[in-house]
Amino acid sequence: MTEILGHLTGRTVIVGSGLAGLMTALTLAPERCVIVTRAALGAETSSVWAQGGIAAGMGADDSAALHLADTLSAGDGLCDPIIAAGIIAEAPAAIAALQRAGVHFDRNAAGELSLGLEAAHSRRRIVHAEGDGSGAAIVAALVRAVAQTPAISVLEGFEARRILMDGERVAGLLCATPNGAAILPTSRVVLATGGIGGLYDATTNPMGNFGQGIALAARAGAALADMEFVQFHPTALDSRRRPLALVSEAVRGEGALLVNERGDRFMARIPGAELAPRDVVARAISAEIARGGRVFLDARDALGSRFAARFPVISALCGEAGIDPAKDLIPVRPAVHYHMGGVATDANGRSSVPGLWAAGEAASTGLHGANRLASNSLLEAAVMGMRTARDISAMPAGPDDAIIAERLPAPADASLVRPIVSRHLGVLRNADALETAIAALLPVAEGDGPAADPGIVALSIAVFASLRMESLGAHARTDFPLKLAQANRRQMRLSQVLEIAGATQPYALAPPYVLAPPYALARSA
Ligand SMILES: Cc1cc2nc3c(=O)[nH]c(=O)nc-3n(C[C@H](O)[C@H](O)[C@H](O)COP(=O)(O)OP(=O)(O)OC[C@H]3O[C@@H](n4cnc5c(N)ncnc54)[C@H](O)[C@@H]3O)c2cc1C
Repeated sequence: MTEILGHLTGRTVIVGSGLAGLMTALTLAPERCVIVTRAALGAETSSVWAQGGIAAGMGADDSAALHLADTLSAGDGLCDPIIAAGIIAEAPAAIAALQRAGVHFDRNAAGELSLGLEAAHSRRRIVHAEGDGSGAAIVAALVRAVAQTPAISVLEGFEARRILMDGERVAGLLCATPNGAAILPTSRVVLATGGIGGLYDATTNPMGNFGQGIALAARAGAALADMEFVQFHPTALDSRRRPLALVSEAVRGEGALLVNERGDRFMARIPGAELAPRDVVARAISAEIARGGRVFLDARDALGSRFAARFPVISALCGEAGIDPAKDLIPVRPAVHYHMGGVATDANGRSSVPGLWAAGEAASTGLHGANRLASNSLLEAAVMGMRTARDISAMPAGPDDAIIAERLPAPADASLVRPIVSRHLGVLRNADALETAIAALLPVAEGDGPAADPGIVALSIAVFASLRMESLGAHARTDFPLKLAQANRRQMRLSQVLEIAGATQPYALAPPYVLAPPYALARSA
């Protein structure tokens, strides 16, 4: 039997307890709200695993304008510059709000915020906490703050399975709970469900996060944006461990080299070599793997016996896999790390469906364009969580009376789509692979089996990718290696995705999907 949680009627319901969900709830308080989260509060989040920190142009030699320029450059022409400028301008306010909530950021001897430097940032601007344990420190502080805020109710072990609609507006949330099905009657739902890494075999994300928020929103009729843009981290430790462990760019920063199984330093032929942008390195490594080769990091000369002292966490992870980086080559491979696409939102987190917001990695605001700049995702999660809360507070709540109960769908199982997605929607794409993926995923997405929700997300990535006949940022097509002179974002609803998938035939797409010259060389920062 489905329980209706009437005592929580009328409250904003936030799905997910990473940085975006926690910041939305804390900013909404003292207005009452409910956090629905699949695991314990703050657990099974990418947020808790974040290492580097939060990008904020707060140094004496820095400015919002410089931070924006780096963001737009990384985004390869696809960022929404107005959205990006607004989010970046709010970075100092987000850092201040996190401090008020109890986060202690690292400081230098003078007591100022200690600012780190990361790839493709022209200034030191990464605000961090507890060294490379930023995410864990931030989430722990916010979880404590939520526990001290009586206005926030927390439902742990609850998984959102469907948004209930009254016509075109949100009317409630259907959840699986430890005691069966439950409905939260509400006219306001915020999706803060994180990334899509769980769709892929090789990911650095929690394996259970396959883009549930995207599937929930798509089924409710919301527009999705830029779904094809999946960021691969080039150097995950290639081992049996799932999810894969990161071998930070800092190892290459210390001089470690990338070599293939023949000992050939293939990056030496590419501008920037080992320190080229993430998408460039990921493509080069994928090309080696695609021809049947293997790729390794060689830190023996650069670091040797100093490796364990400089990188204790990575050293321990290598040790788990039986590798001693002082003496052995470290096997690496690209792994899904971040999703630039997601539920299309405006500057206040509003989706195209009345009563539905999305924040954090589940959303696509346009900040990241075709390629996310390192440490801009925690920034976006914090700022958009705050903005979403302010937007909700400023608008009158809708009626919370019409509940149309639905059968609780079976638990989702992404393992059925993982082989298709991993094989055909990886770093290097082409028409054959995309059409094969679409043909395999369409019946799954249209069905009602356990793979239907992951199938919807995966099919959307495939269809968006098939329509982008260019290589731009993180989206690399071997059959279209150039990029168009003008980058355009794309939005579609699930109905359009299904229609295009049903009609997909090799090279049969009519304008506006046909390419027009002039082309520019594909490359991104
Ligand atoms: C290893 C790693 C290191 C990173 N380092 C950095 C960094 O240094 N700086 C940076 O800016 N970014 C970094 N990122 C990216 C960044 O961590 C994420 O983009 C960001 O934390 C996403 O926050 P979020 O709140 O949107 O989602 P998450 O933190 O992933 O939280 C998602 C939440 O939704 C819940 N959930 C999902 N589906 C459901 C459902 N159906 N019902 C209920 N709950 C659900 C999950 O359990 C979880 O609580 C890193 C990512 C990884 C994986």
